[in-house]
Order: sequence, then structure tokens, then C-alpha cells
Amino acid sequence: MSGDATPKFLWLDGELVKWEDATIHISELGWSTVGGVFEGIKAYWSEKDGELYVFRLKEHLERLHRSMRLTRLPIHNSVDELTDAVTGLLRACESREDTYIFPMAFQKNSFTDRWNMLEQESRLMIHARPVPSHLFSGHTLHAGISSWRRISEDVMPPRIKNLSNYRNGQLARMGALESGYDTAIILNQQGKVSEAPGACIVMIRDGKLITPDLTQSVLESITRDAILTLAREDLGMDIEERVVDRTELYLADEAFICGTHAEITPVVSVDRFTLGDGGVGPVTRQLETALDNAFRNGTPSRAEWRTAVGVPATVGSTA
Ligand code: PMP
Repeated sequence: MSGDATPKFLWLDGELVKWEDATIHISELGWSTVGGVFEGIKAYWSEKDGELYVFRLKEHLERLHRSMRLTRLPIHNSVDELTDAVTGLLRACESREDTYIFPMAFQKNSFTDRWNMLEQESRLMIHARPVPSHLFSGHTLHAGISSWRRISEDVMPPRIKNLSNYRNGQLARMGALESGYDTAIILNQQGKVSEAPGACIVMIRDGKLITPDLTQSVLESITRDAILTLAREDLGMDIEERVVDRTELYLADEAFICGTHAEITPVVSVDRFTLGDGGVGPVTRQLETALDNAFRNGTPSRAEWRTAVGVPATVGSTA
């Protein structure tokens, strides 16, 4: 299936439903998504294995459950059931390329009971579309510090994927684009570095990986965790998870944003301070290779992070 083609199926409330039959009444728009939480998950095609692997599916589904618990959305499906839902959907859609998977849980009857999700039913939809990896593409970002501050624990829970949180990153990103940058770096309420819109930020100074710790109003990012684990355990790098000042970023040798969609995207300047020599740095390149190996069963393998989908072989294939 190519990028603009419509998938054949999506998964809705326990069943595979034809794409064109998965409708919702227009009156449910709006408040249903205020009460919505979601996940962004990626599956990667391994040419070597002729197999599609979902990256850290269990961790993503566990985070979906945490998002539902914190927003008091009733949970109707176990992690095992949702694992089968995702892999079954990818098989039904015959996905044989890098694919972005989007599960979203939202309140049923939001029009009548918008202030109360207690004792309500929730609905869960999953759809999947091809999105190629851009690791190694050489695509780089110029970032600017945003004047919008990151939402904080006393406003909405930053550590989960609550849909309503996303206006914050959207405003910051649009402000950055208007100012001639490619993306924003958002500070938290204490004026310390938090995140980029939809991605975490990691910098490298004197060979050390430094990133804001999980109490700095950041999402509990699965890619961030994967990169720190690969760096520490496979590449023997020093890691610091701590409070980060904005001027440390200005002086970094390298920096990148990371996330399921962002993967690793190098940042080459912040507020027009050029980082390193202004290109993709050597540590960033090393981490890109390590992450790609983890995605596609390269070396080292990190088998525990991949769920094989078991996509059917194409007609005429001997695989
Ligand atoms: N922060 C925010 C606000 C995000 O939406 C994302 C993307 N999910 C990330 C960070 C990166 O998280 P992950 O690595 O789990 O995709």
C-alpha cells in the first residue's frame, strides 16, 4: 500500500471494520476528542527477514493504559488483546513497509456526559498507514526556544498522550515556523528545557548524552528510553538525565529530537547558535545506526523490543 492509498481495514471496538464503514456521528466530534488519549507506534519492515516488526508494542500499549487510567477512561481491552488487534490489523492490511499505527481511545456518549467519564464506556479505534523512516536522510532542523511554556502537572498530565495536551506543542511549532525556524524547543514552567513539539530533546556535550529527566514536564517517551538504553548498554556512553538550562543547549556539540515519528532528527542550531560544525554529528550518526538495527533486527539485535507481525507473503513470493 502506498502512502496516499486508503487502508482496507481499521480496528474498532474489538473488530476489523472496513475503512469506509467506520463512521461516527458528527455530534460526537469535539468533546469526544477532548476526552481522548492516543498512541503513536511504528512498525518497520525488515528486508532481510521479509517481516514487519512493531517496535516496543507492549510498552506503547501499557502507556495507552496509563493514559486511560489518568484520564479515568474505562479500559475494556487488555494489553494482550490490543497486541492481537494491532498485529491482526497489519496482517489484514497486508502492510509490508514502514507503518505508523495510531490507536485512540475516547469517551462514548461525550455529548451528553462531557464532564464525567466515570462509569462511562470508552471506544477504541486503531488505524495504520505507511510512513517511511527518515533515519540517515540527512534532514536537519533549526530550532528556536518557544515563548509558550510546556503544560505542567498542575494543568494537565504531560507524561501521558492526552489529546488535549497537543494544542501546546502545536502552538509552539506554528510560532517557530512563523519565526523562520523548523521546530521549537519548549521550556517548562521553571524555565528549564522540556521538549520539542511531539518529541524529546537530547544533547551531546563532551561525549556525554544529556536529556531532561522525566519530572521536567516531558512525555514518558519510549524512543528516549530506547536511545538511552542503547547508548548506555550497547555503546558504553555516559548519560545524564537531569535539569537542563537553555544555554547548555546553545553550547552543545550535537543535539537531536527523538520520538516514534521523529525517530532521531538532528538539530543543527538553537536560536541561531550553531551546534558543533552545523552538520549531523558523529554521536548522532552512531545512535541512528543503533536505533535502525533495533527497529529491523540488525546487530546488536534487541529482539525483546520487536513484535513480529507475520505478514502474509506476496503472491508469487517464495518467502
Ligand atoms: N513528547 C511528546 C509530546 C510526544 O507526543 C512524543 C511522541 N509520542 C514524544 C515526546 C516522543 O515519545 P515516543 O518516543 O514515545 O514516541
